[in-house]
Amino acid sequence: MEYDIHIKNGEIIDGTGAPKFKSDIVIDKGKIIGIFPPENGDIRDNSEKHFLSNFKAKQTFDAKNKIISPGFIDVHTHDDDNVFLDPTMSSKISQGVTTCIAGNCGISLAPFSYKGNVPDPIALLGKENVFRFPRVKDYKNEFENNPSTVNLALLTGHSMLRVEAMNGEFKREARPKEITQMVKRLTTALEDGSIGLSTGLAYPAANDAPTSEIIELAKILPEFDGIFTTHMRNEAIDVIKSVNETIKISSTAKVRTVISHHKCAGRDNWGKSKTTLKLIEEAKKDNFLDLDCYPYTASSTMLLKSFVKRADRVLVTWSDNYPDVSGQDLNDLAKKFGLSIDKTIDKLYPAGAIYFQMDDQDLNRILQFPGTMVGSDGIPGDRHPHPRLWGTFPRVLGKYSREMKLFPLEEAVYKMTGKSAGVFGLEARGTIDVNNYADLVIFNPDTIIDKASYETPKLHADGIENVFVNGEVVWAEDSPTTNRPGMFLPGKKFN
Ligand code: ZN
Repeated sequence: MEYDIHIKNGEIIDGTGAPKFKSDIVIDKGKIIGIFPPENGDIRDNSEKHFLSNFKAKQTFDAKNKIISPGFIDVHTHDDDNVFLDPTMSSKISQGVTTCIAGNCGISLAPFSYKGNVPDPIALLGKENVFRFPRVKDYKNEFENNPSTVNLALLTGHSMLRVEAMNGEFKREARPKEITQMVKRLTTALEDGSIGLSTGLAYPAANDAPTSEIIELAKILPEFDGIFTTHMRNEAIDVIKSVNETIKISSTAKVRTVISHHKCAGRDNWGKSKTTLKLIEEAKKDNFLDLDCYPYTASSTMLLKSFVKRADRVLVTWSDNYPDVSGQDLNDLAKKFGLSIDKTIDKLYPAGAIYFQMDDQDLNRILQFPGTMVGSDGIPGDRHPHPRLWGTFPRVLGKYSREMKLFPLEEAVYKMTGKSAGVFGLEARGTIDVNNYADLVIFNPDTIIDKASYETPKLHADGIENVFVNGEVVWAEDSPTTNRPGMFLPGKKFN
């Protein structure tokens, strides 16, 4: 028999949290078809005995002294349009990421058929002309016609539904008939293959939505096995209140819920993760409640006055009016312009920023929490992006697991693979098992580390040897290959 790929001599971390073990892997037609520890010749493919001596492979990879793990799942991305603009997705595959969940923080490229000016933070996805997908099935078609290296699953952004149903008049509560319209659009999106609903309640487009509006929408999700993810209303002074609001939504709508990029922003709020995690732990007894987190103490989004106020330091990541200021400190720019901070923001706007505003202890505590998954929240279009775009996953493995020993390597991998696939309902992915899709990464556990920094944010990590998506090699010898095997991953009830 001849198969596509044989990976030999490696140690497998299978994504379930179980201890690593020595084993070979055989891949054929996009799937894992054999896993066998070489010492005893045991095979987990039941169809053939003596598998090892019996087959040839078109390609062989030697993973001696390396780890073979499931491809990493980036549960928190804004790659909705980036998969089309840059189908190579180097920022992700260079980290070992094989699946991206897009449509987070209330903003998704689809569905959206509104024609007016888009409010913050929808502009993070691009200018008006990027909004070309009235339905999720239009997006799915374009992805399937022009696949990227990575797989992609799409959440439906609450802010998109809201701006559309309220015809741009979003600075108030939605009226009953507008909620009905949102429910209708969300239902169609789920039928078209969206995996759930995301909110960005901290942002202008959704901030006036009361809890009841979110519950009305979230409660249709369970019928579709859909997930609810939330960039909460407040991640600073009212972070505890916001966690309670999220628990209320989750328990009332009985919906599987993920708190996005959990953090306690601003010095006055450092240490509050002790309380938020306690609340989450308690709520987990009766609800499906999880969270994601990126391994940095600075955040990044649009340049907004309310966010600048609570940060220790602010770096500008892009400005439409002044493209050359990318990467510069906001204070320095204010001095240079001879303006107040507020006036400088007005001058640069629309613009993006990195905010230094979190505490290491909170970050460690949140990363270590058993319910926490890894998500980058990288913003791909920025001229001078936050380093999380290129560094998140190797940083968790190299810095937080190997160097700081916050958790064993197996647990770190679980937080970015098996756990994530389970929570987001990605079938036959996230663990190494026979008949699962061959989304895999071979990495060096002794050298893996992020290289991207706040000063030089577009550097790929060290220690990622090979990355496979649906059985095809997408990263080899520190470079992307020309393969584009990514699949659109619809929700479970899609037909
Ligand atoms: Zn967000």
